Amino acid sequence: MKTASTVSEVRQWRRGAGGSAALVPTMGYLHAGHVSLVERARRENDRVAVSLFVNPKQFGPSEDLARYPRDVERDTRLLEAAGCDLLFAPTVEEIYPEGFQTTVDVGTVAAPLEGKRRPGHFRGVATVVLKLLAIFQPDRVYFGAKDAQQLAVIRKMVRDLGLPVDVRACPTVREADGLAMSSRNVYLTPEERRAAPVLYRALEAGRDRWAAGERDAETLRQTIRSVLAEEPRVRVDYVSVADPETCQELETVAGPALLSLAAFLGKARLIDNVVIGAAPALRE
Ligand code: AMP
Repeated sequence: MKTASTVSEVRQWRRGAGGSAALVPTMGYLHAGHVSLVERARRENDRVAVSLFVNPKQFGPSEDLARYPRDVERDTRLLEAAGCDLLFAPTVEEIYPEGFQTTVDVGTVAAPLEGKRRPGHFRGVATVVLKLLAIFQPDRVYFGAKDAQQLAVIRKMVRDLGLPVDVRACPTVREADGLAMSSRNVYLTPEERRAAPVLYRALEAGRDRWAAGERDAETLRQTIRSVLAEEPRVRVDYVSVADPETCQELETVAGPALLSLAAFLGKARLIDNVVIGAAPALRE
């Protein structure tokens, strides 16, 4: 595996050989969820690149940018084992040279849910992803369904701007007890970690209620909330039943729906979701 820290090294790598190229954007501190994206990219492309960049533009002033976990050596070993060809780990100055001003605003899909609680977050995400796509010019780019609104934002940007890249989504990888893998899970104390599977249990309860025939979105939200309330350590930020493409809240679930939530457990703010009523291809 080659390692690059500059844009010109990546361009050289891209020009170096033919065939299809994939990009998997990450913020590092990798886990099995990230690895699943790399392995899928490996199966579907001739060459696979992973970017590792903790993007300051997607963190709010009171968020965890400074303490976001990092371990480049461990990440390098994991990526090597997963069959990555190029690891791109740039400095902040390499991505945002002095005077950088352009931002990407994708519109209403970025407004609710995470966008409402984290103002500017998706502007930061869309801006860095567009820049990475411009640097790599990959045939395919891989994202996790774990960050469902991020996926919707990227898909919208790619569609609106006519970017020549195929966006592929991979299912959420979970711990054995259902907790969605996340770099932020390291913030959890042992007690909080024991409580954390309630997030997925609550979403499953919503999905079960839907499978039993319930179509009223507010009833599904209440079902999810009532399971979360069983765990006093959990402080709910939001519970949502929304359109997976537009991320706008639904009144009635007539087609596909994104059941999602954000909750604080101690210092950690965790998000999770499930999609109901969609064909597997849409769900992923
Ligand atoms: P991050 O490093 O958190 O920015 O995540 C990088 C990519 O990995 C994003 O596309 C995430 O959606 C994806 N990802 C994070 N956690 C998981 C997970 N548990 N399962 C699948 N994909 C994930």
